[in-house]
Amino acid sequence: MGGMEIDRGRRRDISIVTRHRGLGAVFLSEGSGRALVFLGVVIVAARLAVSTVGLADLGAMAVVVLLFPFVEWVIHTHVLHREPGRLGPLPFDPARSHRSHHEDPGDTRFMMLRWFQALAYGSVIAGASIVLIGGSIGLAVGRPLAVGLTAATVGVLGLGLYEWLHLLFHSGVTPKLRWVRTLRARHRLHHWRNERYWMGVTSNLGDRVLRTLPSDPADVPRSSTARSPEGAVSRAA
Ligand SMILES: [Zn+2]
Ligand SMILES: [Zn+2]
Repeated sequence: MGGMEIDRGRRRDISIVTRHRGLGAVFLSEGSGRALVFLGVVIVAARLAVSTVGLADLGAMAVVVLLFPFVEWVIHTHVLHREPGRLGPLPFDPARSHRSHHEDPGDTRFMMLRWFQALAYGSVIAGASIVLIGGSIGLAVGRPLAVGLTAATVGVLGLGLYEWLHLLFHSGVTPKLRWVRTLRARHRLHHWRNERYWMGVTSNLGDRVLRTLPSDPADVPRSSTARSPEGAVSRAA
């Protein structure tokens, strides 16, 4: 079944984009980028309409920032790298698009979410944040909706950051910030050394805690399915 192709139109190579401005234009031309900007604006407006920001909001933000890397790790490890299987009587293969991303990492078609996925996942993140954080921290301070919307804002912005950084890491743009360059190097190791390690995109906290952040990449065996384009490893450094 390995040869099954997903038809998504023409290949769009992001590695030839070398400037932030060009990358921003690509982000906004992609359905996912537009959907997340839209969702971000809606949720920030909703939050600001409810009330001003207090101390509990900072707590809610901190919780989401802390949880996000683990959610990212679990999804990348257990959903996007899941072997094709069955869910009851039906074939179940949630990793198909991500496998295509690993086969051709520079192609935006399999790198970013599709617009309806971005809207759906963003809404799930927002809903879960409102229920879980609004229903705990928010309820404790008597402002469940406001605090829940604060958490939802951070969660949706986190998904936008994930999409932006992932695009950036596969582009020809050199990130200005050192920690972003480190994240990029690790994501490239995920592609070009071994896809069982370096699962984080926006943070390596999940990798650090869940032991997928080797102290020396040379200790990790090169995976047979890892790609190794010219110069990729030296560029990753
Ligand atoms: Zn990637
Ligand atoms: Zn992967």
